[in-house]
Amino acid sequence: MNWINRKRQTTNTFLLYFYAAWKVATGLAVSMFLLTATPASSQPVPGSLDVHWNEGALDCSATPQDALQVHTYEPQTFILRQSPCANFEANFLYLLVGSDKALLIDTGAVADPKEIPLAKTILELLPDKDHKKLPLLVAHTHSHLDHRAGDPQFASLPSVQIVPTDLEGVRAFFGLTNWPNRIAHLDLGGRTVDVITTPGHHRTHVAFYDSRTGILFSGDFLLPGRLLIEDAAAYHESALQVVDFLKTRPLTHILGGHIELNTAGHAYRFGSHYHPNERRLELAREDLTALPAAFESFNGFYARHPNYILTNPIHNLLALAIIAVAVLILIVWGVRRLLRRRWRG
Ligand SMILES: [Zn+2]
Ligand SMILES: [Zn+2]
Repeated sequence: MNWINRKRQTTNTFLLYFYAAWKVATGLAVSMFLLTATPASSQPVPGSLDVHWNEGALDCSATPQDALQVHTYEPQTFILRQSPCANFEANFLYLLVGSDKALLIDTGAVADPKEIPLAKTILELLPDKDHKKLPLLVAHTHSHLDHRAGDPQFASLPSVQIVPTDLEGVRAFFGLTNWPNRIAHLDLGGRTVDVITTPGHHRTHVAFYDSRTGILFSGDFLLPGRLLIEDAAAYHESALQVVDFLKTRPLTHILGGHIELNTAGHAYRFGSHYHPNERRLELAREDLTALPAAFESFNGFYARHPNYILTNPIHNLLALAIIAVAVLILIVWGVRRLLRRRWRG
């Protein structure tokens, strides 16, 4: 190999290395762009929870206040709260607007439109499409009356569809054929909402996960208050399923159906129309991930956790009934003993 050939070979090798380095650099740049571009496009739309909810009053008749409070979380997501004065349940309802359809989650505890004009308020919030109001789907986290009492207000409205409230109807509507081990998807147009089966508080319970905001709308499955347990094993399974579902998804907030705790962590008396110093509505991922373990150590009656209380009302009632019967037996036995002594004496 002569000098000229060696020089040519060196030049070729240099060009080859330069080409390879350039390919690697451009490849890295493209990957970097994709890495930064992909999460940005799937980031949840931010919103505001900077709001003070109506706290009701000790004497509601002497303290007039809006029966329904509307808060705009972001331009396509609304949080509605029924005042504790309108109904002690003080439900939270949620309106999610897509480009083709809107979804109302729960209709609350008040049926009478004169008390709470829910349908009118929702229609005012809905944008127009093709010179008509956007079609509306009315769904429920579960069929307890305080989550569906407002349904009749929507019954005769055009372009409104109401999801049935019985288990068969819920299963059929969402296509949750393998209940409770399925997740369904609602397409609102540029906004997907996942429907996750969450029985345990009630056998028809579902939670809704919104891809746009990264919020889990959890109904009575998870809220800052009493988690009333109907079926502890089902509840535990539901908690595991939701934890697993959200493992790979962004979760900004968990918004439930009620607030039942104050800032000191004390629960309001059941039936109270007055909620002073309410704890914040939103729960976080830590509250959810702690839920399966909370069920694993549950004594079947009552357990306190930082942001919620596990309680089984049926078990508690049974325990109270057993104690009451035992006390009664003791009293009767004591009285009979006393009377016998007197007769003998
Ligand atoms: Zn409920
Ligand atoms: Zn409820």
